[in-house]
Amino acid sequence: MKEGRKRYVVELRKQLDRLRELFAATDENITFDTALQIYRLVHTLKGSAPMFGFVRIGDIAEKLVQQWEWAQGQETLSSTDTSVIVGFQSTVSEGAVWLQQLVMELDVYSQELDLDDKQDQKLLQGSAVAHGSRLLVIDDDEVLRSYLVRRLTLEGYIVDDARDVAGAQRLLREFTYDLITIDLMMHPQSGYELFEFVKEDPTLKWVPLVVLSGRSDINDKVRCFYLGADDYITKPFQYEELSARIYGLLKRTKNFEQMAFRDPLTGAYNRRYFDHQILAELQRIQRYPSPISLAFIDIDRFKSINDTHGHHIGDIVLQGLAHLLQNHLRETDLLARFGGEEFVIVLPGVTGVDARKVMETMLQHTHAGPVAQYEGQAFHITFSAGVCEWSEGMSVAEWIRRADDAMYSAKQSGRDRVLLYADDMSAALTEASAGVETRKKTVLIADDDRILRSILVSKLQHLPVQFIEAVDGEEAYTIIKAQPVDLCILDGVMPRLDGFGMLNRLKQEEAMPEELQILMLSGRSRDEDMSRGQQLGVNAYMHKPFSMVELEFKVKQMLELT
Ligand code: GH3
Ligand code: MG
Ligand code: MG
Repeated sequence: MKEGRKRYVVELRKQLDRLRELFAATDENITFDTALQIYRLVHTLKGSAPMFGFVRIGDIAEKLVQQWEWAQGQETLSSTDTSVIVGFQSTVSEGAVWLQQLVMELDVYSQELDLDDKQDQKLLQGSAVAHGSRLLVIDDDEVLRSYLVRRLTLEGYIVDDARDVAGAQRLLREFTYDLITIDLMMHPQSGYELFEFVKEDPTLKWVPLVVLSGRSDINDKVRCFYLGADDYITKPFQYEELSARIYGLLKRTKNFEQMAFRDPLTGAYNRRYFDHQILAELQRIQRYPSPISLAFIDIDRFKSINDTHGHHIGDIVLQGLAHLLQNHLRETDLLARFGGEEFVIVLPGVTGVDARKVMETMLQHTHAGPVAQYEGQAFHITFSAGVCEWSEGMSVAEWIRRADDAMYSAKQSGRDRVLLYADDMSAALTEASAGVETRKKTVLIADDDRILRSILVSKLQHLPVQFIEAVDGEEAYTIIKAQPVDLCILDGVMPRLDGFGMLNRLKQEEAMPEELQILMLSGRSRDEDMSRGQQLGVNAYMHKPFSMVELEFKVKQMLELT
């Protein structure tokens, strides 16, 4: 079937060329036979095109058949008869419109067939620019408009169209466009009126504007360029030229946008763009009321990633998180890097409750796998997020502050969670202050004695805590820097780096986590060891050998487990 269609398209092209030649017949060589040939040709088209699925071509051919009906069965008329010549001329000029439409239809159909051939539409030149770009075609010529919509859509653009200025204004208020094509001669308002509307609106005035005009008058052109048009194309035009000009304009603006509005590290929008866009979103909401939410995201213990693996890995992790977030957002959502390791997401049309769900899904993804990998090493992170739905009368600053407050509560109540402003905050904080965190507390056992470690774990495992083991001070140091640890049971004497050495290093680097409790196990009971330990931040001492009951009592006390 497809092969048949392709062959038919070739045939159709020849027939249309032939029709064009016949239409171009001048007074001198016009014969009655020409009219009859035209009639027969369009008649054939009418019958054959729908058989290959080219329904619209069939419909147009049908109109032409009706128009040329007069040529049939009048063989007796002389071809030099003036009435025939006049009739022929007027039918030709009316029919030319239909013929033009036939050519356009064929264009679209063959483009569709070509596209089918290319397995991946992304291979098309320019599709990276087209993808996700939204265009608005404004023209009162129904045929041209639908032709442009169809061809541009085939290239991967999202295309809306309007037949007049009022319709265009409605769409411009509702959607964000990357480029506008505009016809000058329209009714009841002309294209110039739309020009004013666009150029006076701060959110629209930089959208690339291409004028498609039937007038090639130099004054029109000059006026349009002074008004801020980016291009001026005279009708009739070749579609390929328009398409190439649109491509060039979009590529240039995207490049500019990339430099001015994007964060170079993560590719997310920057603060400047966010500030601008959030105002535009709120303006839109005033006209078309709908919910809108904001999420504020901060990576958990990001500093330890930098400290443990270096700034370079920190950067890779930031990129990884930005990609993860972006990949799970909708086209209308806006991701921006707000500051160092903080991101914000604007979710238009989404309630606070739903935005929380979206963010929770993202958080699940950070649990499911690493956000980044480098030289075979995988890096996992979590984040804390605050979500706030905008409500009537709220300023942008207040909106951001609330989302930030909710994020801060998420941090305080144990990190790795999403809180909705107001709703979730008090409950989470009450829980946190009551010490009933959902995150299990972590106990690090740093001792080179494997047997002692396993005894400790088995005696304490009934407590609601999780254990991590380290064989020396080096390993304990790395763990403390990489993740939250609530209590470290630390052997004073170990190979490589002992307990004192490790504490000393943390202290030197001012990297001792505030919430970390240190219970030191020591084989010695010298006073100077005790006071040295105290200086280094040891909270409690146990002398080996010790009673397990006493140890359990101490551990529970230090972790505030009741
Ligand atoms: P919390 O869970 O409380 O948010 O802990 P945190 O360590 O993430 O928070 P803190 O705000 O103390 O640390 C943020 C760190 O982010 C400090 C800074 O070094 C790092 N950072 C900020 N911007 C960048 C960046 O562009 N690249 C890298 N690698 N690190 C950055
Ligand atoms: Mg921060
Ligand atoms: Mg952080």
